[in-house]
This record gives sequence, C-alpha cells and structure tokens, in this order.
Amino acid sequence: MQELPDGIPTSRLEISAKAYRQNIRYIRSEIGPKPTISAVVKGNAYGHGIAQMVEIAERAGIRHFSTFSSDEAWLVRRHSTRKSEIMILGMLYDSELPDLIQAGIGFYVFDFDRLQKAIDVSRDLGIAAKIHVELETGFHRTGFDWEDRAQLASLLQEAKDHVILEGLCTHYAGAESVSNYVRVKNQIAVYYDFKNFLSENNLFFNRYHTACSAATLIFPETIMDMVRIGIAGYGFWPTKETFFAKLKDLPKANKNPLKRLITWKSQVMSVKKVEMGEFVGYGNSFMALKNMLLAIVPVGYGHGYSRLLSNSGLVLIGGKHCQVVGTVTMNAIAVDVSHLKDVQIVDEVVMIGKQKGKEITVASFSESTQQVNYELLTRLPRDIPRRIID
Ligand SMILES: *Cc1c(COP(=O)(O)O)cnc(C)c1O
Repeated sequence: MQELPDGIPTSRLEISAKAYRQNIRYIRSEIGPKPTISAVVKGNAYGHGIAQMVEIAERAGIRHFSTFSSDEAWLVRRHSTRKSEIMILGMLYDSELPDLIQAGIGFYVFDFDRLQKAIDVSRDLGIAAKIHVELETGFHRTGFDWEDRAQLASLLQEAKDHVILEGLCTHYAGAESVSNYVRVKNQIAVYYDFKNFLSENNLFFNRYHTACSAATLIFPETIMDMVRIGIAGYGFWPTKETFFAKLKDLPKANKNPLKRLITWKSQVMSVKKVEMGEFVGYGNSFMALKNMLLAIVPVGYGHGYSRLLSNSGLVLIGGKHCQVVGTVTMNAIAVDVSHLKDVQIVDEVVMIGKQKGKEITVASFSESTQQVNYELLTRLPRDIPRRIID
C-alpha cells in the first residue's frame, strides 16, 4: 500500500479509523444530511498518508476527495475502491489536462488561461471537463475577479456544451476567527453577487461550495451543497477560538467531539547516565544541573521532530512526561528519564498520543514551536510507516 524502505524505520504512526468515523459523525450532525463532505487530503492527507486516509474515509462513507495537485489526485485514484469523485484545488500542468479530463477528475479553474485550455482540450477530446469555477471574494490568491464577470459569463456560455459546470466555489480568508465576521460576511455577499449574476446569465452549477472546516463550524451560512473538510476530519479544531465558539453548543458528556486520529511512537534506543555539570549533545545548550538519567530516542528533525523542540519538547515513556534535553539533532533526541523507576531499551516512547492515561497532543507541540497543527502534521515524512487501527 505504502512504498517503504527495507528494514525497520525508527518510528511509526497509527491512524485511527474509529476517531475518523466520530469526526465525520460530528461534522454530519453540524451540516445535516444533504451536503456532500469532500475530504481534503492535500499535504499527504495532512501527514496521515493519502493511501490510509482514502481507505479510512471511504469506509466511513466519504465519496469525494480534494487534493492540491494532480499527483495527489492520481494517488487518491489509485487507492480509491469506491469510484469516489476527485477535485484538484490547485496545481496541474497543461500537459496533464487530457488525462485528467479523461479520468473524470475535476479541477478548479481560477483564471482565463486555465479556463480556455480546459475548454480547448474538452472540445478536442469530445469529453467534458468537470470544472469548478473559483471566485475571488477576498482571499486574494486565486479566482476570477468581479470585474471579470461579463467575460467569464460569455466564455462559459460558449463552453457549455464542452465542459460540465461542476462547481462554483471560493475560499474564506480568516473563517477560523469570529473576529473576522465582517470580512467573511463580505466574502459571502460577493459570492452571492457572482452566483446571481451567473444565474441571470443562465449559468447554473452542480454544486455551490465555499466552506472549509472553520467556516463549516462557525459560519453555517457557508455550508451550501458541499463542505471541504480538512483539519477537522483529522480531529483538530482549526483554532482554539473555533473550539470555544462551539463549546456552548456541545453536549456536556462529550465536550470535545473531534478526536485525533494520529499517534506517533518510537522506542528507547539507549539509556545513559550523565554527571552533574556535563553538557548534553552538541554545543552547550544544556548542562546537567544534577546527576541525570537520559534516554536516547531515535527521532530527530530529519524525521519531522522539529528542532524548535530543543530543550522543551515532551514525550511519554512509562506513562510519564519526559522532557527533551539539549538540541534535537537530525536523527535523535535525548530525554530526561531521571524520574522514572525503570527504563529499558525498546521501551515505548510516544511523541504524539496517549500512554497509560497521559497524553501529548499536537496542540501542545504547536504552542512550543510556533508551528500550527497543519505544519507539524504535513512535515511528518512520507517514509514513516502509517498503520490503520480501529
Ligand atoms: C485546504 C483547503 C480546505 C480545507 O481547509 P481546512 O481548514 O483544513 O478544513 C478547503 N478548501 C480549500 C480551497 C483549501 O485549500
């Protein structure tokens, strides 16, 4: 399923299918029965692995996937067993258009260049491209501007026989914060102006879709026909603020309905005594202030364990929190295990996840490294094995 090197890697990831089912159940309860959920699997499925996430999501009933680029789209196609729909939000090369169109893979069209090429290729092939017309409403990255509307409408009119108007979409800038309410409201208004203009020109789309996780959860008017769910599907709140905004609506018994899927584990490689006054690791960033016992864990920045966690990261060993001492090196960290009774080589080490009732969350990492959840997850290297658990 996943191409792995020979031999046993230094750490492993477990991805919980049960947690995903719970997250989808919660999102479904928020959006009602009708809207389609598109599982956003860009960035190697936010680090969870595209192959694993396609399997887990299809088992949970998902039949629509969003990727950033065409290479990810083909990976989804390879691992999909339920003929799920695929939509590319970002990058593709012109040379790939014929194959993508033939495969029925939909894609965003955000400028006249791509629109014209999609029309030309569709006409040449005699196969209609599934296009999602992206509107600029305030994110200022990609999308047709309001000033483009007349030209856009006339081109789409001409192209109607050659392409399928699969979606009309936009992306919000700042839906993760209630304080951006005015900005998001403006974006919604611009979107509806566009939609009305196109409708008046007899241009109707199969699906109107605008919402990412944050918009879905805190701006329900953005839900429409489909929601594009990334981070919430993986069990994380887009921001603390989105969680607090929802908290009051949540049932008491289930204060956090989003469950983390990912667990990241390694094991103790070696155990070492350090005398008071000795420096640990490269340089002099850490000096032992007492006699210490250290465990060396074979995970470093080359494995996605950020260097910014030097002298601050925490892991779990024997159900206890243990702090990283010294700098994170390419392939290893040293952690203080002086407070543990008995540490053995190959004892389990948890970098993210639970152990004997204690937990290291991704959020606790992110605070100490200034990385958001998204970044830490997507930086987990592809060659760490990812195993689906229930
Ligand atoms: C990444 C992305 C999403 C998903 O965002 P989350 O905040 O992870 O839910 C939705 N739409 C577009 C266009 C995106 O690029």
